[in-house]
Amino acid sequence: MEIEIIAVGGYDEVGRNMTAVRCGKEIVIFDMGLRLDQLMIHEDAEVDEMHSLDLIRIKAIPDDTILQNVEGTVKAIVCSHGHLDHIGAIPKLAHRYKAPIISTPYATELIRQQISGEKKFGVGNRLIALRAGEKMTLSQNLVLEFVRTQHSIIDTVTPVLHTPHGAIVYACDFKFDRTPVIGQPPDFARFRQLGKEGVLALIVESTYIHRPGRCPSERIARNLVRDVITSFEDDKNAIIVSTFSSHIARVKTIAECAHEIGRKPVFLGRSMQKYSVTAEQMKYVSFPETSSVFGDRRTVDRVMRRMMKEGKENFLPIVTGHQGEPGSILTRLAHGDTPYRLSKGDKVIFSANVIPNPMNVGNRYAIEHLLEMTGARIFTDLHVSGHAYREDHLEFLQMLQPQHIIPAHADMKMTAGYAEFAGDLGYTAYKDVHPMMNGHRLRIN
Ligand SMILES: [Zn+2]
Repeated sequence: MEIEIIAVGGYDEVGRNMTAVRCGKEIVIFDMGLRLDQLMIHEDAEVDEMHSLDLIRIKAIPDDTILQNVEGTVKAIVCSHGHLDHIGAIPKLAHRYKAPIISTPYATELIRQQISGEKKFGVGNRLIALRAGEKMTLSQNLVLEFVRTQHSIIDTVTPVLHTPHGAIVYACDFKFDRTPVIGQPPDFARFRQLGKEGVLALIVESTYIHRPGRCPSERIARNLVRDVITSFEDDKNAIIVSTFSSHIARVKTIAECAHEIGRKPVFLGRSMQKYSVTAEQMKYVSFPETSSVFGDRRTVDRVMRRMMKEGKENFLPIVTGHQGEPGSILTRLAHGDTPYRLSKGDKVIFSANVIPNPMNVGNRYAIEHLLEMTGARIFTDLHVSGHAYREDHLEFLQMLQPQHIIPAHADMKMTAGYAEFAGDLGYTAYKDVHPMMNGHRLRIN
């Protein structure tokens, strides 16, 4: 049986991930992601109503038209977690394939919400929730397994496709967090066992291959956030925190710290509402009972008026907009475009890094400057990453001992960096470690 890897998206860039694996006449697709910075460049893009070909043209979603030349039937679309660069293109592409979409329960719920917001296409694919540790038979030759891992969103797995020639491990995205704030550590015992059984290929994120050492645990971020917030125990000024709305563990930490210093956590913004309400309803997390959530703009403004009236010292708003995104709550605050007013001595805390693309860097610079002009004190980088660093990748390779490696989820500089790193461990570029570009196809047996 021929085994072929097809790099569809996420090999020339960070974002719009999509990889197809062909085993004989059967194909399994891993991820269908969106590239958000491309959408932000085209500000007038009404994504809900746009056609997939137009989104492909602006490089916002993977160019899956290349799969028309690949002979075989798609048996499944598999998503490893609920980040938009992994599930965001599903409403635009999935309907072209007569295959179920298989993901973890939390990601499946996010996919369901995404599909229901789609206006252009009717997406009727069956949604199947598979839990970490479970297996599912896709065909006579193919079995899918979900292995538990950790990342910056809850309920992330490493999907493994068992073929007659060995396992194909799809490790985008992951971090080896041994002391996570929510959930269990990665299933290292299963990874080691897979290595013994035989891994034919590892498709692996290479985003932070150049960072030395190990990625710090989410517990470290919790201490950073706690250290700063609890130091304002007796402060009467505003404290506002912005973080990734999908980072449920971080949002939980912030809400708990607010509660600890006697302030009510107030979650503000549409995406803050979407991710946290879904996680709490599915019982992945429980926030302090003094917490409240408000999504749409009119309600947010009403709650802001109430906070101004009752006293800013009684609340801790957790808001969207840490990248300075236009229209987000923090950006509106910085522009003085909200009923909630910042004044001298107020604290604004960024529990996030700046995502390094020129647009974010520019936007973030601008809002930090505007916030400072109100007299607010700024705290940045109370954050740790959700992606593996160099020594985590080393540990992973030692566990899995893959025959072939395909570095993914990055631009050429990073995938080439991964190939160089693997070279030190005895792999040879284009023989058993294969940097690919979008559109490339690779036979591995
Ligand atoms: Zn991710």
